[in-house]
Amino acid sequence: MAELPTVLDPTLQAVDAALEASGNAEPHRPYLGMSEIGRPCQRALWYGFRWCSVKSFDATTLKRFADGHHGEDVQADRLRMVDGIELLTIDPRTGGQFGFADHGRHFRGHMDGRIKGILQAPATLHVWEHKQTDEKKLKALEKAKQEHGEKAALAQWDEVYSAQAVLYMHYSGMKRHYLTCASSGGRKTVSVRSNAAPDKAKALKAKALRIIQSDVPLTRISEKPDWYQCKWCDHQAICHEGELPEINCRTCVHATPELDGNGRWSCAHFGCDLSTKHQRQGGECPEHRYIPALIHFAEAVDADQAGNWVEYRAGETTFRNGGNYYTSAEIKALGRAGLVPEVLDIKKPSAAPGANQNQSQPPSTSAPWLPAESAATTEETKTAALASVPAPWAVKG
Ligand code: SF4
Ligand code: SF4
Repeated sequence: MAELPTVLDPTLQAVDAALEASGNAEPHRPYLGMSEIGRPCQRALWYGFRWCSVKSFDATTLKRFADGHHGEDVQADRLRMVDGIELLTIDPRTGGQFGFADHGRHFRGHMDGRIKGILQAPATLHVWEHKQTDEKKLKALEKAKQEHGEKAALAQWDEVYSAQAVLYMHYSGMKRHYLTCASSGGRKTVSVRSNAAPDKAKALKAKALRIIQSDVPLTRISEKPDWYQCKWCDHQAICHEGELPEINCRTCVHATPELDGNGRWSCAHFGCDLSTKHQRQGGECPEHRYIPALIHFAEAVDADQAGNWVEYRAGETTFRNGGNYYTSAEIKALGRAGLVPEVLDIKKPSAAPGANQNQSQPPSTSAPWLPAESAATTEETKTAALASVPAPWAVKG
């Protein structure tokens, strides 16, 4: 039988469009999350920490996220209906979520709650985490519980959630974890308990530090673009297809995440710290130079710190990022296909590479790249003092 045509509802389509517009307005997270560190590809985690790709979600995914947030509140209320259960979802010391941070606060996580009084182990404090998922994944959890036993089920079922659980136990000092997982809408719920795993926590902490401290992309999980994990990856275009990453301070060769502050980033070019707001606005900085390893299709063959340029070779083509040559924005716009001799000859300044091209353009206080105001976030509020000063590229001459 031929498939019946879908009758579209313009009102619901408008709802989805509005959802996508608001749901995708979230800026990049300023830290590496404990909720993601269990992901298998460390290169993808590095790209995420360095804000390389813009993520966008379709309306269906955004509705799933909303169901997850709502489901957590529903499940918390349901657990509190049981006599003897004490469930805290707010840290009484801070009035906010229970949170943990490490590695100069570049690595952070927030657990859903702390629970005591569950009937299987009434005297034991547990980290509580709730997930909302589809029927298929819920069934897989039940199966893992039957086949591997309750305590091993979480690690068998989902390595990302398992890593998160291990870290929350490690940082909270609790030795047990209680995961509830419900199908969409919270109709059916499965639970698993798991034990602390100090060695695994140590390995995850080391993995996070490796990602934070690396100034180049880490090893790929696969060299094949059609590898199943690559097909779903947000960074597939820059990792396998030669697209250039976003331009912000985190993709700039001059930026470093420092381990001695509160998520502190410094800029070696301007010799200052960077607020989260200014890092996001780094695309407006004329001194941005790509981390050379992010231009995968070319090899960095020369550089000059005083002139703030890096020279690349890609086959027969030679081009520079900086000096009087190409800005990062121009290189990104030209892309791999545009960085060819025919195009470069047109754009190239009259002097050849190496001839009087060492002078970086000094920023001016009346610069047209003065950053536009952006919406404040909690993180920016915390670093308000730093964020309220002008961007470094707008004041240093
Ligand atoms: S495309 Fe594949 S190798 Fe590249 S970052 Fe993503 S998962 Fe890792
Ligand atoms: S302020 Fe400019 S030079 Fe410094 S890290 Fe940001 S983009 Fe790079």
